[in-house]
Amino acid sequence: METGPKLDHSEAALERNSLLRALSAEDYAKVMEHAITVPLRPRQDLVEPGEAMRYAWFPQRGMLSLVNDMKDGKTSIEVGVIGREGIAGLALFHGRETQPMRILVQVAGEAKRIPADAFKALIRQTPTLRDVLHRYTLALLNQAGQQVACNRLHSLEQRCAKWLLTTHDHMDAQELPLTQEFLAIMLGVRRPGVTVAAQALQDAGLISYRRGRITITDRHGLEQIACECYGRIREDYEHLLGDVMIPPSTASEGRPLQVA
Ligand SMILES: [Zn+2]
Repeated sequence: METGPKLDHSEAALERNSLLRALSAEDYAKVMEHAITVPLRPRQDLVEPGEAMRYAWFPQRGMLSLVNDMKDGKTSIEVGVIGREGIAGLALFHGRETQPMRILVQVAGEAKRIPADAFKALIRQTPTLRDVLHRYTLALLNQAGQQVACNRLHSLEQRCAKWLLTTHDHMDAQELPLTQEFLAIMLGVRRPGVTVAAQALQDAGLISYRRGRITITDRHGLEQIACECYGRIREDYEHLLGDVMIPPSTASEGRPLQVA
């Protein structure tokens, strides 16, 4: 559904979130009345499982992880990622205050943040926001479906490569503080497994790994090793949101990803 003129060139150039760029100029102005820009700090929990959401977040830079925590309190796995093509707080769009998954900041950045009550009112008032959130919901569902298949069918080495590529796509900063232990949580495996996978990628000349810092030395090679899921998830987002998608960060092109 399209209503009203699109954002003019200057507004669209400044807005870095794909969903907000999809809004008509009129709807965008309404949304911006309630939005403030806030930093996204590494490991910050934006949404806690089962707790009422206070805000909706539209990332401008950085990356969020959708994490499923098991009841044992020790086991978690990443089940999806949200970058500037998305929103944290989608449950509010569907009339719910809570969701079972944690959303935490994986790569630091900024987000436009809107209080939950204002966001719910905006959904009623802004048809272009409703339209793009319907499309985004489908993209996120498809991503989750792909992730289920990936976690069961693809090797740790392939998944590790996919994860590094996805993170690289969302990075503006040159360095990302990350321990092997954290990478193991994201991939839902034990730490020794991550060490073996990282070693295999290093032996293949795709990354260098030293003292807990990973540098991508051959991105193209990493794309060859990664499972099909990396490409399929990206293609699906482009299919559903293609007219509003912003290409992956150009700030990180041509320089290595360093994971400390
Ligand atoms: Zn896969």
